Amino acid sequence: MPRPPAVDLYSDTQTKPTAAMRTAMAGAEVGDEQQGTDPTVNRLCARVAEILGHEAGLFLPTGTMCNLVAVATHTSPGDAIVTSVDSHIVRSETGGAAAYSGVITDLLAGDGGRFAPEATAEALAPGNAYRPWPRLVCLEQTHNFGGGTVWPLEQYRAVAEVAHRSGVPVHTDGARLFNATVASGTDPGVWGEPVESIWIDFTKGLGAPMGAVLVGGHDFIQAARVHKHRCGGAMRQAGIAAAGCLHALDNHIERLADDHANAARLAEGLAGLGLDTEPVETNMVWIDVSSTGQTAARFLELLATHDVRMSRVEERVRAVTHLDVSAEDIEVAITAVAAVLERLP
Ligand SMILES: *Cc1c(COP(=O)(O)O)cnc(C)c1O
Repeated sequence: MPRPPAVDLYSDTQTKPTAAMRTAMAGAEVGDEQQGTDPTVNRLCARVAEILGHEAGLFLPTGTMCNLVAVATHTSPGDAIVTSVDSHIVRSETGGAAAYSGVITDLLAGDGGRFAPEATAEALAPGNAYRPWPRLVCLEQTHNFGGGTVWPLEQYRAVAEVAHRSGVPVHTDGARLFNATVASGTDPGVWGEPVESIWIDFTKGLGAPMGAVLVGGHDFIQAARVHKHRCGGAMRQAGIAAAGCLHALDNHIERLADDHANAARLAEGLAGLGLDTEPVETNMVWIDVSSTGQTAARFLELLATHDVRMSRVEERVRAVTHLDVSAEDIEVAITAVAAVLERLP
């Protein structure tokens, strides 16, 4: 088995549960999640619903399933969903929304994945005998491929208001919502309030081994539970996993500020080496390595020889900070990049 790299900036999914989290998980009170009798799962769902200002929550194994289930619950086959061109739903879920819900996507461009209320209004023109009916707007906070960007609250509210004026609900992919709240100094509830459904992922920087919670109104969650079961997401003694998520809520939110500081320091260090980076808003540094004369893939290979791992999306290199990356690790990463650049022809 390959040894893990010394510094792993591949993704904030590359965390290992801490000893304290494992202890919390081992001691979890459990029941049958599928029957709604797992007390730890129920506690987690109630807690996330309260944090986000919604009536009810649903525990799902992954964030991808939150999006899959939410889109299915809000739409019917043939409907259109409006989302950003590079949303996770469109780019990274193997077409799940199309395959499972039969929806077509109407894609909006925007700065860092943040599109405008005006463009939203245009996309929400009613359907007719030719044009599919737009039935859902999907937002992403923070926006991953947009650069780990944070929607400004005013813009987020304005888009939701435009949707509601057309009678269309809004769903937020909040995989990294807490990165947004910590970066913007906002209460999570303000992001839940304008939308009909929203979820958070416990495996993105929060350090849990699995789990995500989708929240919404009672009726929405009742209907979502059917889809959850249908796509195989009903579980049994899932309190073991939920306990890790509760531990993350108690211990791993405020520290996201450290990840943001580490990302800012990394970007600063890379800029000092002459590399272009996109503006850092949260825990991601997106790097343009074209000035090195290397492809992104080759750059990552060279970096790996110095025991530092990053990822890429096409020609953009991405470094993501998280719970298992320290300030010292960031200095190691900068030194490694410097060593790569020094040895280039
Ligand atoms: C990772 C991610 C998901 C999917 O979450 P998983 O738990 O990996 O299935 C969805 N949306 C965004 C923005 C993500 O970054």
